[in-house]
Parts: sequence; structure tokens; C-alpha cells
Amino acid sequence: PFDGGAATALSPDLAPSDPTDRRTAPSLSCIIPSFNEAASLVDLLPRLRTTLDACRADGAIQAWEILVIDDGSSDGSGELLRRWSRQPGLRALRLSRNFGKEAALSAGLGAAQGEVVLMMDADLQHDPALIPSFLTAWRRGADMVYAVRESRDDEGPLKRWGSRGFYSLLNRGARFEVPADAGDFRLMDRRVVDTLLALPERNRFMKGLYAWVGFTTYALPYTPAPRAHGRSKFRPLRLAQLALDGLTAFTNWPLRAVSACGILLALPALLYGGYLTAMYLLYGHNVSGWTTIVVGLMLFSGLQLVSLGILGEYIGRIFEEVKGRPLFVVREQLGQGLPERRA
Ligand code: UDP
Ligand code: MG
Repeated sequence: PFDGGAATALSPDLAPSDPTDRRTAPSLSCIIPSFNEAASLVDLLPRLRTTLDACRADGAIQAWEILVIDDGSSDGSGELLRRWSRQPGLRALRLSRNFGKEAALSAGLGAAQGEVVLMMDADLQHDPALIPSFLTAWRRGADMVYAVRESRDDEGPLKRWGSRGFYSLLNRGARFEVPADAGDFRLMDRRVVDTLLALPERNRFMKGLYAWVGFTTYALPYTPAPRAHGRSKFRPLRLAQLALDGLTAFTNWPLRAVSACGILLALPALLYGGYLTAMYLLYGHNVSGWTTIVVGLMLFSGLQLVSLGILGEYIGRIFEEVKGRPLFVVREQLGQGLPERRA
């Protein structure tokens, strides 16, 4: 429905939900979480700057800043960023160690000054050429525009299957849907950013939080490019951890499933117990059954441990929240971005 794009709207009704006049060109912050991506940043930053300058020349934005969040890199990113941030519009926030992508994104959102904020990966999988389409969707009234991968053909069957399973578990019975195949390549209006920043939780499963805040959203199909340098930081174990973070932060049906499971198992046990007692009282039969006992014992102690584990996952998150530690620690801030934010 948009100029020149074969975009499919998830929400066809794109009337702006705020009174802001979106005909005035906004200032744009690009935030880029980066962990050992020096090789990619060397390619990405000039390309991004060219794209942003072109957007400004077109009148789509009135100013821009690029903000790289160095998530504890050890590959010389620090030197590179120190050099780059002498140029106007380029900023860097260096965290004191590796805090993880979700924390780096939170740091970036907090430091961004633009009226619209775009986030993208540093590894060149997110093509800057899509930025004008993001801005068009925003101007038409979308508060949040996110890129959705058109296919997962580039991924192995395990990852594809795992991600499908994860989203169906995550969205089970939820009031809002976390769209599958949508990542952290997205543009947000200032109001969405401020809402996200106001959320108090420490477990920042961003994909869930984006969906939780609501507002008018728009999906932009895209095909991620292959990673330019190095390999993905999200190995299978790390992905599984992230999935657990997401499930514990956005669902509580696993806890109910444990109760349901308990009831389902206890009921037949009661009936069977009643039957055996009756047999004994009426006929004096003493049922022998060593095997039954052992199998029953293993089954039920196994189930109990699983239930404890599920409980433990949730309690662990409570512990994280209660400690109330900051999400990240900033080591140094480099460069000058946008002037003071417009009111
Ligand atoms: N990233 C980060 N901190 C981490 C891991 C990753 O800031 O602890 C950044 C990384 O540098 C990249 C983005 O998050 O810019 C996405 O990571 P990656 O490309 O490894 O993930 P994938 O594309 O495979 O999901
Ligand atoms: Mg990547």
C-alpha cells in the first residue's frame, strides 16, 4: 500500500494514534548494538551515513545520529569507535563488559535523542536501503515499523522448527501476539520508546516488550543478507536461554499446566487406589506389583522434578527482579549526536 513497496500491512488502519504532525521531518537516531563487530562496522558506518544523508536531502528527516553500543567488545571496536566518533552525528556508548544484546538495546534506547529511533544489527544483515521505507510507514501513521523476514530458508531445519515451536508456546492464550520472524530491525516513534523505557522489569525480552506496548504497528517484509563477518553470537544454547527468558517473562500457562498435570495424574491414582482397597476388603486379594511400584515411582518423581524445574525458572526471574541491579554499566560515552531533543 506504500509508495513503491510491495509491503503487506498487518494493520491496514494506519491512522496516527497521536496528534503529532508527521508532515514535519523528524530527527532520527540509529542504534546499533555491537559485540566484536569491528570488521562489519567499518563497512556499515559509511554506508549508513550515506543513506541517512540521502534521507535528509530528500526531506524525510531533518537530522540524524548514529549510536553504536559497544557491548564489551574485545576486538579493537573501542579504538575504531573513538576515531569515528570525532565526526559529527556519530556517537558510541561503551558498556563496561558484555551485558547481552537486550541490555545493549535498552542502553541505546535510553541514550537515543531522536524523535524516531531505528535499531539495526551491526553485522550488515539489516540493509540500510530499507530505511526510507521505514520512514514512509512512520509518516503514514505507524508508531512502530518492523521488518519481517520473508523466509527462513537460509536457516537449518532445527532452528526453523525451534523458532516455530517457541512462538506458538509464547503466544498461547496471550492477549497480544508476538509476531514470529520479526527481529530487532525496527523503527519506533518517540512515544513507543518512552513507553519501553518506562517499563520497570529487568528481564528485557525485547521482542515481547515491543508487542506488549501495542500502538499502531506495520510490518515490512525483507530478506536478511548473510552475515558479513564472523559468526552469529546466538549459538543454540544461547537461543534456548533467550527462549526461556521470553517464556517466563510473558507466559504463566506452564505453571497452570503443572497443576493440570498433577490433577490428571492424581485422579486415576485415587480411583485405582479405591478399586484395590475394595478388592482387598471384599475378596482378600492382595495385589502384587513390584514393577508397577517402580514404574510409578520413577514416573512421578520425574514429573515432580520437572514441575520443580518450571517453578524454579519463574522463581529465578523473581530473584533477578528483586535484586534490582542496573541493566548495564556504561564505561564511556563518545561523540556528539543530535542537539537537544525538540519538545
Ligand atoms: N550482540 C550484542 N551483544 C551480544 C550479542 C550480540 O550486542 O552479547 C549484537 C551483535 O553484535 C549484532 C546483533 O546483536 O549486532 C545481532 O547478533 P547476531 O548477528 O550474532 O545474531 P543473529 O543475527 O544471528 O540473530
Ligand atoms: Mg546477525
